[in-house]
Amino acid sequence: MDASIPRLEVRDVTVRFAGLTALDAIGFTVEPGSVHAVIGPNGAGKSTCFNVLSGVYRATSGSVRFGDAELTSLPPHRIAALGVARTFQNIALSPRLSVRENLMLGRHRLTRAGFVSAGLRLPSARREAVRHGERVTEIAAFVGLTERLATPVGLLPYGVQKRVELARALCMEPRLLLLDEPVAGMSGGERRNMAELIIAVRESLGISILLVEHDMGMVMRLADAVTVLDFGKRIADGPPHEVQSNPEVIRAYLGA
Ligand code: ADP
Ligand code: MG
Repeated sequence: MDASIPRLEVRDVTVRFAGLTALDAIGFTVEPGSVHAVIGPNGAGKSTCFNVLSGVYRATSGSVRFGDAELTSLPPHRIAALGVARTFQNIALSPRLSVRENLMLGRHRLTRAGFVSAGLRLPSARREAVRHGERVTEIAAFVGLTERLATPVGLLPYGVQKRVELARALCMEPRLLLLDEPVAGMSGGERRNMAELIIAVRESLGISILLVEHDMGMVMRLADAVTVLDFGKRIADGPPHEVQSNPEVIRAYLGA
Protein backbone atom coordinates (compact mmCIF):
# COMPACT_ATOMS: atom_id res chain seq x y z
CA MET A 1 0.00 0.00 0.00
CA ASP A 2 1.12 3.53 -0.80
CA ALA A 3 1.96 5.33 2.46
CA SER A 4 0.61 8.59 0.98
CA ILE A 5 -2.96 7.26 0.81
CA PRO A 6 -4.88 8.85 3.72
CA ARG A 7 -7.70 7.32 5.71
CA LEU A 8 -11.18 8.78 5.07
CA GLU A 9 -13.21 9.28 8.24
CA VAL A 10 -16.86 10.28 7.94
CA ARG A 11 -18.26 11.24 11.36
CA ASP A 12 -21.83 12.14 12.32
CA VAL A 13 -22.62 13.65 8.93
CA THR A 14 -26.14 15.04 8.64
CA VAL A 15 -27.59 16.59 5.48
CA ARG A 16 -31.00 18.26 5.61
CA PHE A 17 -32.93 19.54 2.63
CA ALA A 18 -36.16 21.50 3.20
CA GLY A 19 -38.23 19.11 5.33
CA LEU A 20 -36.10 16.04 4.58
CA THR A 21 -33.14 14.51 6.40
CA ALA A 22 -31.21 12.83 3.58
CA LEU A 23 -28.35 11.76 5.88
CA ASP A 24 -28.83 11.35 9.61
CA ALA A 25 -25.56 11.40 11.59
CA ILE A 26 -23.87 8.74 9.49
CA GLY A 27 -20.28 7.61 9.97
CA PHE A 28 -17.82 5.13 8.50
CA THR A 29 -14.09 4.82 7.81
CA VAL A 30 -12.42 3.93 4.53
CA GLU A 31 -9.07 2.31 5.29
CA PRO A 32 -6.19 3.28 2.97
CA GLY A 33 -6.06 1.07 -0.12
CA SER A 34 -9.37 -0.67 0.60
CA VAL A 35 -12.58 -0.99 -1.38
CA HIS A 36 -15.51 0.21 0.73
CA ALA A 37 -19.07 -0.17 -0.55
CA VAL A 38 -22.10 1.94 0.39
CA ILE A 39 -25.36 0.15 -0.32
CA GLY A 40 -29.06 0.69 0.38
CA PRO A 41 -32.42 1.18 -1.34
CA ASN A 42 -33.20 4.09 -3.65
CA GLY A 43 -33.40 7.34 -1.74
CA ALA A 44 -31.25 5.99 1.12
CA GLY A 45 -28.77 8.88 0.77
CA LYS A 46 -25.90 7.22 -1.10
CA SER A 47 -25.47 9.88 -3.80
CA THR A 48 -25.97 12.61 -1.19
CA CYS A 49 -23.08 11.08 0.73
CA PHE A 50 -20.86 11.25 -2.40
CA ASN A 51 -21.99 14.83 -3.00
CA VAL A 52 -20.86 15.78 0.51
CA LEU A 53 -17.52 14.00 0.12
CA SER A 54 -16.81 15.77 -3.17
CA GLY A 55 -18.02 19.18 -1.95
CA VAL A 56 -21.08 19.43 -4.20
CA TYR A 57 -23.36 19.53 -1.12
CA ARG A 58 -22.47 21.13 2.19
CA ALA A 59 -23.14 18.94 5.25
CA THR A 60 -25.59 20.46 7.74
CA SER A 61 -23.32 19.09 10.49
CA GLY A 62 -20.59 16.53 11.04
CA SER A 63 -17.07 16.09 9.78
CA VAL A 64 -15.21 14.39 6.94
CA ARG A 65 -11.48 13.93 7.51
CA PHE A 66 -9.19 12.88 4.69
CA GLY A 67 -5.86 12.45 6.41
CA ASP A 68 -5.24 15.81 8.08
CA ALA A 69 -7.69 17.72 5.88
CA GLU A 70 -11.26 18.57 6.89
CA LEU A 71 -13.30 18.34 3.69
CA THR A 72 -16.69 19.67 4.82
CA SER A 73 -15.62 23.31 4.53
CA LEU A 74 -13.84 22.98 1.16
CA PRO A 75 -15.20 23.71 -2.35
CA PRO A 76 -15.14 20.88 -4.97
CA HIS A 77 -11.92 21.99 -6.71
CA ARG A 78 -9.97 22.02 -3.42
CA ILE A 79 -11.24 18.52 -2.57
CA ALA A 80 -10.27 17.33 -6.07
CA ALA A 81 -6.81 18.86 -5.55
CA LEU A 82 -6.40 16.68 -2.44
CA GLY A 83 -6.85 13.64 -4.67
CA VAL A 84 -10.55 12.83 -4.32
CA ALA A 85 -12.00 12.00 -7.76
CA ARG A 86 -15.47 10.81 -8.60
CA THR A 87 -17.73 9.43 -11.28
CA PHE A 88 -21.43 10.21 -11.42
CA GLN A 89 -24.52 7.98 -11.31
CA ASN A 90 -25.46 9.52 -14.66
CA ILE A 91 -22.68 10.00 -17.18
CA ALA A 92 -21.14 13.49 -17.06
CA LEU A 93 -18.80 13.56 -20.06
CA SER A 94 -18.67 15.97 -23.02
CA PRO A 95 -20.36 13.86 -25.76
CA ARG A 96 -19.01 15.84 -28.75
CA LEU A 97 -15.41 15.69 -27.59
CA SER A 98 -13.21 12.68 -28.28
CA VAL A 99 -12.19 10.22 -25.60
CA ARG A 100 -8.69 11.78 -25.59
CA GLU A 101 -10.12 15.30 -25.16
CA ASN A 102 -12.36 14.16 -22.30
CA LEU A 103 -9.38 12.53 -20.59
CA MET A 104 -7.22 15.65 -21.11
CA LEU A 105 -9.95 17.63 -19.30
CA GLY A 106 -9.45 15.18 -16.43
CA ARG A 107 -5.78 16.27 -16.31
CA HIS A 108 -6.75 19.91 -16.02
CA ARG A 109 -6.38 20.24 -12.25
CA LEU A 110 -2.79 18.98 -12.59
CA THR A 111 -1.82 21.53 -15.23
CA ARG A 112 0.43 24.21 -13.79
CA ALA A 113 1.20 26.11 -16.97
CA GLY A 114 -2.45 26.76 -17.80
CA PHE A 115 -4.01 27.52 -21.13
CA VAL A 116 -2.52 30.98 -21.66
CA SER A 117 1.10 29.86 -21.75
CA ALA A 118 0.09 26.76 -23.69
CA GLY A 119 -1.54 29.07 -26.23
CA LEU A 120 1.67 31.11 -26.41
CA ARG A 121 3.52 27.84 -27.03
CA LEU A 122 6.06 28.42 -24.28
CA PRO A 123 8.53 25.48 -24.28
CA SER A 124 7.76 24.53 -20.66
CA ALA A 125 4.02 24.47 -21.40
CA ARG A 126 4.62 22.40 -24.52
CA ARG A 127 6.67 19.87 -22.54
CA GLU A 128 3.97 19.68 -19.88
CA ALA A 129 1.25 19.14 -22.48
CA VAL A 130 3.30 16.29 -23.98
CA ARG A 131 3.70 14.67 -20.55
CA HIS A 132 -0.06 14.89 -19.90
CA GLY A 133 -0.74 13.45 -23.35
CA GLU A 134 1.55 10.49 -22.63
CA ARG A 135 -0.13 9.80 -19.29
CA VAL A 136 -3.57 9.94 -20.98
CA THR A 137 -2.35 7.37 -23.52
CA GLU A 138 -1.15 5.12 -20.67
CA ILE A 139 -4.40 5.37 -18.71
CA ALA A 140 -6.46 4.75 -21.87
CA ALA A 141 -4.43 1.56 -22.46
CA PHE A 142 -4.93 0.47 -18.84
CA VAL A 143 -8.71 0.88 -19.15
CA GLY A 144 -8.81 -0.71 -22.63
CA LEU A 145 -9.68 2.44 -24.59
CA THR A 146 -6.66 2.74 -26.89
CA GLU A 147 -8.72 2.00 -30.02
CA ARG A 148 -11.34 4.60 -29.02
CA LEU A 149 -9.14 7.62 -28.25
CA ALA A 150 -10.21 9.56 -31.35
CA THR A 151 -13.92 8.67 -31.14
CA PRO A 152 -16.44 11.27 -29.91
CA VAL A 153 -17.72 9.98 -26.57
CA GLY A 154 -21.38 10.39 -27.60
CA LEU A 155 -20.93 7.75 -30.32
CA LEU A 156 -19.71 5.05 -27.93
CA PRO A 157 -21.89 2.34 -26.38
CA TYR A 158 -23.06 3.11 -22.85
CA GLY A 159 -20.80 0.53 -21.18
CA VAL A 160 -17.75 2.01 -22.90
CA GLN A 161 -18.77 5.54 -21.83
CA LYS A 162 -18.81 4.33 -18.22
CA ARG A 163 -15.21 3.16 -18.73
CA VAL A 164 -14.28 6.58 -20.13
CA GLU A 165 -15.69 8.12 -16.94
CA LEU A 166 -13.52 5.86 -14.84
CA ALA A 167 -10.49 6.71 -17.00
CA ARG A 168 -11.19 10.43 -16.65
CA ALA A 169 -11.29 10.08 -12.87
CA LEU A 170 -7.98 8.16 -13.00
CA CYS A 171 -6.48 11.00 -15.04
CA MET A 172 -6.76 13.15 -11.91
CA GLU A 173 -4.24 10.78 -10.23
CA PRO A 174 -6.64 10.23 -7.31
CA ARG A 175 -5.83 8.89 -3.86
CA LEU A 176 -9.52 8.20 -3.21
CA LEU A 177 -11.87 7.24 -6.02
CA LEU A 178 -15.66 7.63 -5.56
CA LEU A 179 -17.61 5.41 -7.96
CA ASP A 180 -21.38 5.98 -8.05
CA GLU A 181 -23.06 2.88 -9.53
CA PRO A 182 -20.27 2.05 -12.00
CA VAL A 183 -22.14 -0.93 -13.53
CA ALA A 184 -25.70 0.46 -13.54
CA GLY A 185 -27.37 -0.27 -16.87
CA MET A 186 -24.58 -2.57 -18.07
CA SER A 187 -24.84 -6.03 -19.58
CA GLY A 188 -23.38 -9.07 -17.81
CA GLY A 189 -20.18 -8.99 -19.87
CA GLU A 190 -19.68 -5.26 -19.32
CA ARG A 191 -20.21 -5.75 -15.57
CA ARG A 192 -17.53 -8.40 -15.35
CA ASN A 193 -15.19 -6.21 -17.36
CA MET A 194 -15.77 -3.25 -15.02
CA ALA A 195 -15.35 -5.42 -11.91
CA GLU A 196 -11.99 -6.65 -13.21
CA LEU A 197 -10.99 -3.08 -13.96
CA ILE A 198 -11.83 -1.95 -10.42
CA ILE A 199 -9.76 -4.80 -8.99
CA ALA A 200 -6.88 -3.85 -11.31
CA VAL A 201 -7.08 -0.19 -10.22
CA ARG A 202 -6.93 -1.17 -6.59
CA GLU A 203 -4.09 -3.63 -7.08
CA SER A 204 -1.90 -1.60 -9.41
CA LEU A 205 -2.47 1.89 -7.97
CA GLY A 206 -3.08 0.98 -4.31
CA ILE A 207 -5.65 3.77 -3.94
CA SER A 208 -8.82 3.68 -1.82
CA ILE A 209 -12.13 3.15 -3.57
CA LEU A 210 -15.56 4.06 -2.23
CA LEU A 211 -18.25 2.36 -4.26
CA VAL A 212 -22.02 2.83 -4.42
CA GLU A 213 -23.47 -0.27 -6.01
CA HIS A 214 -26.78 -2.14 -6.23
CA ASP A 215 -25.33 -5.34 -7.66
CA MET A 216 -24.72 -7.44 -4.50
CA GLY A 217 -22.61 -9.91 -6.47
CA MET A 218 -20.23 -7.03 -7.32
CA VAL A 219 -20.24 -5.80 -3.73
CA MET A 220 -19.46 -9.25 -2.33
CA ARG A 221 -16.68 -9.73 -4.84
CA LEU A 222 -15.04 -6.31 -4.61
CA ALA A 223 -15.62 -4.82 -1.17
CA ASP A 224 -13.49 -5.21 1.96
CA ALA A 225 -16.15 -3.42 4.01
CA VAL A 226 -19.75 -2.40 3.51
CA THR A 227 -21.88 0.38 5.00
CA VAL A 228 -25.64 0.01 4.62
CA LEU A 229 -27.90 3.09 4.55
CA ASP A 230 -31.69 3.15 4.80
CA PHE A 231 -33.69 6.40 4.89
CA GLY A 232 -30.50 8.34 5.63
CA LYS A 233 -29.53 6.19 8.61
CA ARG A 234 -26.65 3.75 8.87
CA ILE A 235 -28.21 0.37 9.66
CA ALA A 236 -25.11 -1.83 9.33
CA ASP A 237 -21.36 -1.66 8.78
CA GLY A 238 -18.78 -4.44 8.47
CA PRO A 239 -17.30 -7.15 6.26
CA PRO A 240 -19.55 -8.11 3.29
CA HIS A 241 -20.45 -11.63 4.49
CA GLU A 242 -21.51 -10.28 7.89
CA VAL A 243 -23.58 -7.47 6.40
CA GLN A 244 -25.22 -9.83 3.93
CA SER A 245 -26.58 -12.02 6.72
CA ASN A 246 -27.64 -9.14 8.99
CA PRO A 247 -31.44 -9.49 9.55
CA GLU A 248 -32.05 -5.72 9.42
CA VAL A 249 -30.21 -5.43 6.09
CA ILE A 250 -32.20 -8.33 4.67
CA ARG A 251 -35.44 -6.70 5.82
CA ALA A 252 -34.62 -3.21 4.51
CA TYR A 253 -32.78 -4.01 1.33
CA LEU A 254 -31.95 -7.50 0.29
CA GLY A 255 -35.44 -8.99 0.66
CA ALA A 256 -36.34 -12.40 2.03
P1 ADP B 1 -29.67 7.38 -3.28
O1 ADP B 1 -28.48 7.80 -4.07
O2 ADP B 1 -29.34 6.48 -2.12
O3 ADP B 1 -30.74 6.76 -4.14
P2 ADP B 1 -30.01 10.21 -2.79
O4 ADP B 1 -28.81 10.56 -1.98
O5 ADP B 1 -29.99 10.57 -4.23
O6 ADP B 1 -30.34 8.65 -2.62
O7 ADP B 1 -31.29 10.88 -2.14
C1 ADP B 1 -31.57 10.79 -0.75
C2 ADP B 1 -32.79 11.64 -0.45
O8 ADP B 1 -32.43 13.02 -0.54
C3 ADP B 1 -33.93 11.42 -1.42
O9 ADP B 1 -35.15 11.51 -0.71
C4 ADP B 1 -33.76 12.57 -2.40
O10 ADP B 1 -35.00 12.92 -2.98
C5 ADP B 1 -33.22 13.67 -1.50
N1 ADP B 1 -32.38 14.65 -2.21
C6 ADP B 1 -31.19 14.38 -2.81
N2 ADP B 1 -30.68 15.51 -3.33
C7 ADP B 1 -31.56 16.50 -3.04
C8 ADP B 1 -31.61 17.92 -3.30
N3 ADP B 1 -30.62 18.53 -3.96
N4 ADP B 1 -32.68 18.62 -2.84
C9 ADP B 1 -33.67 18.00 -2.17
N5 ADP B 1 -33.71 16.69 -1.89
C10 ADP B 1 -32.66 15.94 -2.32
MG1 MG C 1 -27.96 7.54 -6.11
